[in-house]
Amino acid sequence: MYKLAVVNYGFMKDIECFRRILDRLVERGVSIDFVDVARYVSDRELADLLGGYNFIITSTRPYYGAEFFRLNRCLTLIARHGIGVDNIDLDAAAREGIYVIRVPNRVERDSVAEHTIALMLASLRRINIADRYVRSGRVEISRYDSDLVRSVAPPKDLSSMTVGIVGFGNIGSRVAEILAKGFNARIVVYDPYVDPERVKALNAEIVDSLKKLFATCDIVSIHVPLTSETRGMIDREVLSVAKRGLILVNTARGEIIDTDSLIWAIENGIVSYAGLDVFEEEPLPRDHRLLKMDKVVLTPHIGAMVYSTQARMLESIVGAIISYLDGRDISSHAVVEVEPSSPRKLSIC
Ligand code: NAD
Repeated sequence: MYKLAVVNYGFMKDIECFRRILDRLVERGVSIDFVDVARYVSDRELADLLGGYNFIITSTRPYYGAEFFRLNRCLTLIARHGIGVDNIDLDAAAREGIYVIRVPNRVERDSVAEHTIALMLASLRRINIADRYVRSGRVEISRYDSDLVRSVAPPKDLSSMTVGIVGFGNIGSRVAEILAKGFNARIVVYDPYVDPERVKALNAEIVDSLKKLFATCDIVSIHVPLTSETRGMIDREVLSVAKRGLILVNTARGEIIDTDSLIWAIENGIVSYAGLDVFEEEPLPRDHRLLKMDKVVLTPHIGAMVYSTQARMLESIVGAIISYLDGRDISSHAVVEVEPSSPRKLSIC
């Protein structure tokens, strides 16, 4: 029997709609284990934990490095149940003859874009602070005290604001579309790799530097993948030139923003509020400085955590593994990030 490890998705075991999709693999003679793995684990420990599995479906954690692929001789295919493959050493997987696949971008588009808008509005209207006011019983609905107004009233509506989009791909372009068409916001884009005509089609402006974008926008939303170029790209130098009172939203990857610089910018009033779904360290350590700050709204990497989206994501991965077993085309179900030139032979370990 071939073996599949589903890493850090224990919830799928208990929810009928996910179980039903995974059962398609069980019907094909694949046994499934749900394995919880700590965020920081060495390749050697990981290879011990996941030894004997032919297939892995994984979340954004842990990191799968070269040593893991070298030591884990049974593995032939690893699937990211998501878009970003930044926790997988793709070159090492290719060298070791292992397929790396992931969910097609479009599947997560609406969920992540809508969560981005939710964080943006929650930040703009200080929903978490307002909620605390109500719960504390300090506010009489008929009388707005100046403390309340100072804490929750934004300077203007989203419709009168300029929103900067960093990365105008699948998700960034949808966020821009919702903001432009639904809110009449002015949109400015920074993405050196995008066709400017696509940006212009939305009546949005394109700028050629990140600093220009930060200098002109009231809100900036991050939608680039984590690469060597984007890691830490939002740093103190960029934040120093930001328009005072900026709202910063990140649903891409935590490592794109240098957290110390963000905290500095919030403490100095440059950033008035930050809406974050992703963090440099996930989960955030209990004593993390962000947890002590009022002017942040935080969610635990749930941009795509919508039942129907998660089910479609799993369907794409399971469909791809079945195609792989049948020797059919994997790419009709999933994005193939690594198609090794000499694939490892699948065998029962
Ligand atoms: P995409 O590849 O369609 O779009 C990324 C865009 O970023 C592209 O247009 C690309 O040209 C641009 N880009 C790349 N490098 C850049 C740089 N240095 N400067 C400016 N622009 C740059 O990806 P997508 O589907 O829109 O997803 C974006 C990211 O969102 C993913 O890589 C993933 O990390 C993250 N994500 C998060 C969640 C979540 O749950 N929060 C879910 C899905 C995806």
